[in-house]
Amino acid sequence: MRKFNFSAGPSMLPLKVLERVQAGLIDYDGTGMSVMEMSHRSKPYEAINAEAESLLRKLMAIPDNYDVIFVQGGGSTQFEAVPLNLAHNSTCTKGDYIVTGNFANKAYKEALKYGDMRLVASSKEDGYTYIPATTRSDFREDADYVHICYNNTIYGTRYTCPPDTGDVPLVADMSSIILSQKVDVSKFGVIYAGAQKNVGPAGVTIVIVRKDLEDKASPLCPTMLKWKTQIDAKSLYNTPPCFSIYVAMEVFRYLDEIGGVDAIQKINEEKAAMLYDYIDSSKLYSNPVKKEFRSMMNVPFFTPSPELDAKFIAESADYGIVSIKGHKLAGGMRASIYNAMPVEGVKALIEFMKKFEKENA
Ligand SMILES: *Cc1c(COP(=O)(O)O)cnc(C)c1O
Repeated sequence: MRKFNFSAGPSMLPLKVLERVQAGLIDYDGTGMSVMEMSHRSKPYEAINAEAESLLRKLMAIPDNYDVIFVQGGGSTQFEAVPLNLAHNSTCTKGDYIVTGNFANKAYKEALKYGDMRLVASSKEDGYTYIPATTRSDFREDADYVHICYNNTIYGTRYTCPPDTGDVPLVADMSSIILSQKVDVSKFGVIYAGAQKNVGPAGVTIVIVRKDLEDKASPLCPTMLKWKTQIDAKSLYNTPPCFSIYVAMEVFRYLDEIGGVDAIQKINEEKAAMLYDYIDSSKLYSNPVKKEFRSMMNVPFFTPSPELDAKFIAESADYGIVSIKGHKLAGGMRASIYNAMPVEGVKALIEFMKKFEKENA
């Protein structure tokens, strides 16, 4: 029996998608082979690659002045790719960072190696429980970019709208929020996201780059980290993670069939509201995040003691609720309720939480 997998990533995929992948696993679309075995230079794979891009463009309403590439290395590799690509062709990039959690901090730390980086704002002092407010004047006018993490997977916060950075390009790590809600791509210079939260299996990372930012790499930028390399090659410069891209394409098809991002956003809002409403009404559980910044994707919650948290995690497993343990930096529990977590999964979690509250009041 399938479990309700609340993992922060890799995470659940829609059952329909898994079934379609299974149906084509040995003989994909009459080719007599699996996508896993297929040349990335073959016609059927080229069709998969093209459809993945065009569906993503449609789902996110990506304007024509942006390129979309599928690369390897995970979200983490983009922490370095960003300063190396947005270097105004120099070896000293100027980047402004807002640090709202662990991944945002990792991105900042990585960038420090590549030039003149500035920490503009951070919510670290308050345990990353909110998104710091900024105005245009907080950023250096001559910065190459401003970097943010749009949804903070570990602490469960998110931006409600992109910060105003004036003419400075805004770069956003959207690994744990992409395709879960509408975003206006035109507000961003670069968007990147590892796939294993909302898109597909690990192994592929989406990078969306505004065309005027494509030719600014440092002369030291490795060929494989340079966005332009894959842009010019339509993500086929070297062997791509073909199977991950194929599964992502099936996820995009499925999302398109059920009504696109608007439709999934409604369901996500419903799931998150149910869970937060219950947490707020309960005497046992709490969520430390300032309400306006609560993530729709990652919901951390705590009982009054680490011992009781451990008991919750152990006992919930008997009800098909798995990977609900919080990140080691945050402790407690964390329910990651990405696109593929069904409403029934959230209902089952709340039912268990109620039962556990009664027994441990
Ligand atoms: C998971 C995650 C990452 C790291 O992704 P990898 O693919 O493991 O490198 C980076 N940023 C955010 C916001 C994430 O949630």
